[in-house]
Amino acid sequence: MDTPRRQWLRRLAKAELHLHLEGTVTPETLVILSARHDTTPLTLGEARALYAYKDFAHFLRTFKLVLDRLLDPEDYALIAREMMCDLAAQGVVHAEVYISWGNILHWKPHLRVEDVMTAVDSARTEFEAGIGGLSILWIADATRTWSAAAVEEVFRLAARLRTDRFASIVGVGIGGDEAGGPIELFRDSYVEAKKAGLRLTAHAGEATGEVKGPLEIRAALSTGVERIGHGLAAQYDDELMDVLREQGVPLEINVTSNVLTGCCPSKQEHPLPIYMDKGLLCTLNSDDPAMFGSNCLDEYVLVQETFGLDLETMRVLAKNSILASFLDEGKKQHLIDLIDALPSYTESVRQFEYPNDGTA
Ligand SMILES: [Zn+2]
Repeated sequence: MDTPRRQWLRRLAKAELHLHLEGTVTPETLVILSARHDTTPLTLGEARALYAYKDFAHFLRTFKLVLDRLLDPEDYALIAREMMCDLAAQGVVHAEVYISWGNILHWKPHLRVEDVMTAVDSARTEFEAGIGGLSILWIADATRTWSAAAVEEVFRLAARLRTDRFASIVGVGIGGDEAGGPIELFRDSYVEAKKAGLRLTAHAGEATGEVKGPLEIRAALSTGVERIGHGLAAQYDDELMDVLREQGVPLEINVTSNVLTGCCPSKQEHPLPIYMDKGLLCTLNSDDPAMFGSNCLDEYVLVQETFGLDLETMRVLAKNSILASFLDEGKKQHLIDLIDALPSYTESVRQFEYPNDGTA
């Protein structure tokens, strides 16, 4: 429901920093992709049923089904355009978007990463020139469970394409099962990527639990990773939280994702409030919005309601998202100024911008 608070949170300039392009494909878009590629195309009802997960295995099957229908550069351009329209409608002003290059390189031999990037980057420049109000940077995402050589291939290609053609490729990252591919295996690739001017991210401490999780986050930091995806396991290690605070390392928090994947037992038990109390640089993100039935704005609403945060604290979280981005300092300051310029929720109600629902 579009409550006055949700409307205010929409007006808050926000950056989405943990978002997988392939996870933005809605049932409606899947129907379009299916019509392009399937001899018996999916109906909307069938597509919606695929997204009503019965269990985690069902979720994984649906995700694979979506990936298997991204077969041409134009498929990627389509989902990039839809993603950007959706982000703009949420009041997201900047996004750093993971694209699974690993999936392309290893499962789609007919498809060249260069061609996919040409398609999605054209969609980006058209959107930025047309509708505007939203900037996009790309992060090349590798899968940690394949091999060190596969990760190296993704990172080197990112460095080459960034230099040659796509300044919008801002960084690299790894995802997938941490237990099956500790970041230590990819240290050399990360060092090389940094030398090439790429910014470094990694999913770490997501599903590794109380013992291995903090170790994996520490290993990511020692590898030069600048931003931690999820970071759920930091809650078990006070010293690690001190390090994250002292070094100002941003956390890409994804509450709904963590609950639906079973990495966190419930939204009420998410460590976000602990991290905020400790002074960590927390940002709110959606991970795979269409897959999890949430988006960046939904996460702001959910966090505000679940943890009873006041709306000025939500303003701080929005500022965190800008500070944690890989934008240059001038652009960051411009977006921070936009956030500061938004009247408080109480003031907005007083100015009759929203009906007074008695909760201001
Ligand atoms: Zn992710």
